[in-house]
Amino acid sequence: MFFRCKSCLLPNTKPDLHFEGDTCLACKYQKYHEEEIDWGERRKEFDELVSQMKRSDDTYDCLIAVSGGKDSTYQVYLATQVAGLKPLLVAFEPSRPTDVGRHNLKVMTNAFNCDLIQLQKSSTYRKLARAGFDLVGDHEWPNHVGIFCWPVRMALTMGISTIFYGEAGGYIGLGRWEKIQSEKELTREHIEQYVGMNGLRLSDILETDDSIQKKDVLPYIYPSEEELKKLNITAYNLGHFFPWDTQENIKLIKKYGWRPAPERTEMDFGNWESIDCGFMPMHQYFKFIKYGYSRATDHASYELRHNRMSKKQAIEYIRTYDWPLPTRYFEEFLEFLDIDEEYFFKTVDRFANPLLFETDANGNFVHMWDGNLLLKDAWYDSFDF
Ligand SMILES: [Zn+2]
Repeated sequence: MFFRCKSCLLPNTKPDLHFEGDTCLACKYQKYHEEEIDWGERRKEFDELVSQMKRSDDTYDCLIAVSGGKDSTYQVYLATQVAGLKPLLVAFEPSRPTDVGRHNLKVMTNAFNCDLIQLQKSSTYRKLARAGFDLVGDHEWPNHVGIFCWPVRMALTMGISTIFYGEAGGYIGLGRWEKIQSEKELTREHIEQYVGMNGLRLSDILETDDSIQKKDVLPYIYPSEEELKKLNITAYNLGHFFPWDTQENIKLIKKYGWRPAPERTEMDFGNWESIDCGFMPMHQYFKFIKYGYSRATDHASYELRHNRMSKKQAIEYIRTYDWPLPTRYFEEFLEFLDIDEEYFFKTVDRFANPLLFETDANGNFVHMWDGNLLLKDAWYDSFDF
């Protein structure tokens, strides 16, 4: 059965979203965040942490994994302008870098006077993207893995023992209540369970593809516990210490030169999320065919939880922008994965959810003239409460 949270419209199919009655935990967390957390206490906790991590030797105080996106820019703002730390920034080159993404990365290093190391991906990345696409319907798989594993490896290499990440998962409804509430540190368990690994492990790929050696995939391997213990590396979510609101954060970082995308992002009604990668809407498209929601839902529900959007407007955005196949980088995407259109749509059919899309008498999915799958009434009816 496909249903939505009565308050914010997130669907029950969203992985790791839990419900209490007809309300989701993202809604519960929003209330908790606004009414129960003592932010003064959290700030004290942060200041104490900062005083411990300021290094007297000639090295960076901490490491921040950045994309140049709204969240990482805000993290660098907090670390440099609020905490007075000297972070080393590390970035993982997106699948398909965009101009606005490059601009925002440059702005970040200039405005906050930070050194940045970017991993420019080898050709192995494309092989891993293709494996992710074929095996779990997600070409961004190596990116999800890389942006969490590589910064930790870099911290080890550079002798930096504190890593900062951004918002806590509770804001977007990730995980069970006990976990959401205590989300200060980011552990290997969290990464393996929640960071879009989709059950695919690198070892599975190494076993099946002889052309990939272990040394080709070092950025995607999380260091061992022993390696981590040597430096006592700890990764913190800054969202644990500071209230986190996307729109407020964007207002602030714009003052430092950060820009949203010049046009609406496909699969979304906005232009502020994942704008550093041209292929990210395709990741959202596969999310839609598997689970029946994409970025338009994520953002409409976020605005609903913040009481900044009417439910009528949210529903309209979701019904308009959540489902259409992204076309802006479509040809380039096929080329990137070395596939043709027929292969693409066959893969779509392998991952499409039969509860959400119409099939013909032979059980094959029905595609419309523009390639889009035909949604069942159940999806449209899910807005009726
Ligand atoms: Zn909700």
